[in-house]
Amino acid sequence: MSADSLITFTQSLIRCPSPPGEESAVVDLILAEMRAVGFDAFWRDDVGNAVGVIMGGEPGPTLLLDSHCDTVGIAPGVPWQHDPFGAKIEDGFIYGRGAADMKGALAAMIHAATGVDRSRLRGRVVVTATVMEENLEGAALKAVMDAVHTDYVVIGEATELRLVRGGRGRAEIHLETIGRPAHSSTPHLGRNAVLDMLPVIQAIAQLPLPVDPFLGPGVLALTDIISDPYPAYSVIPSRCRVTYDRRLLAGETAMAVLAEITGLPGLEGIELRAAIAQGEHTTYTGALLRGPKFLPAWLLEETDPFVQAALRGLRAAGLDPQFGAYRFCTNAAYSAGAAGVPTVGFGPGREQDAHVIDERLAVDDLLAAARGYRGIIESVMMMPGD
Ligand SMILES: [Zn+2]
Repeated sequence: MSADSLITFTQSLIRCPSPPGEESAVVDLILAEMRAVGFDAFWRDDVGNAVGVIMGGEPGPTLLLDSHCDTVGIAPGVPWQHDPFGAKIEDGFIYGRGAADMKGALAAMIHAATGVDRSRLRGRVVVTATVMEENLEGAALKAVMDAVHTDYVVIGEATELRLVRGGRGRAEIHLETIGRPAHSSTPHLGRNAVLDMLPVIQAIAQLPLPVDPFLGPGVLALTDIISDPYPAYSVIPSRCRVTYDRRLLAGETAMAVLAEITGLPGLEGIELRAAIAQGEHTTYTGALLRGPKFLPAWLLEETDPFVQAALRGLRAAGLDPQFGAYRFCTNAAYSAGAAGVPTVGFGPGREQDAHVIDERLAVDDLLAAARGYRGIIESVMMMPGD
């Protein structure tokens, strides 16, 4: 495939807005492209993902390359200098929502997979454009991996063309204090759940969190708080709920991250409940994606055979990648963290260009990513050449 056609396809993806739950049109576009560039099979699955397959000439393993095709929306506030759906190219960058996160990677995967010599390919290459990642990481990829046996996974989230072999996981934790309602003219007759929550929040702020030199620090950040009833008209609130976003390191379990909170000293006498939040989102096909919002961290050794094969492939493609780790949570938290399938991350763009105004992707990086994906496929899947 030519560089021009890859750039043009990336632009057409950016010009098609696709917030979570509204990916129908962009998936139409992706399936049309898979047809045009000659995928052997392609379909829309029940949850609305686009799945395309390149079949090799010999039986062998399955390598899955995944990009999500949803993007975050355009937040109010500071306006963009570039039309977020214009996909204009300026000074070597494509501008627009999804350029870096991650329509560029998706386009590069589709074009790279179709460029390999199928007669020398063992097994099959599956390219997925998954939905709803911005709302519920891993759930849509799980639907694919439940249906398609997968031996290796490449996640295309932005790595600045580094080879990522680990990532922090994410848990969403709900804490609830239970009080007793009373008329607010006689608060001493009740128990104010908001006042009970304050020492909990203060104790959590003192909680020491683990640090991993490769993955980064564990994080526990308060993201919302609400009292119940809300609004409360002359009533002492009898429930208060807060949400914490916990960034996880390798080996951390749901039980352990809840226990470290409920076991904090100084909270005796407070009725505190802790639970992992449940995610539940309906996709544009009407399917329900659900699951606990606990996505484990993942980490492969540098010496892992798949990591080494990917590295050789990137080098053969003329790249010289450093190793890295994702700081944010990706679909790899499912493929590697939950399902235990060897996974690496490799993608164009920078993590800090995701979800920002004037999101952009360097055209050179887009083209390098396509070479890199092809290199990985050839290294992992090709029979020894002649
Ligand atoms: Zn992303």
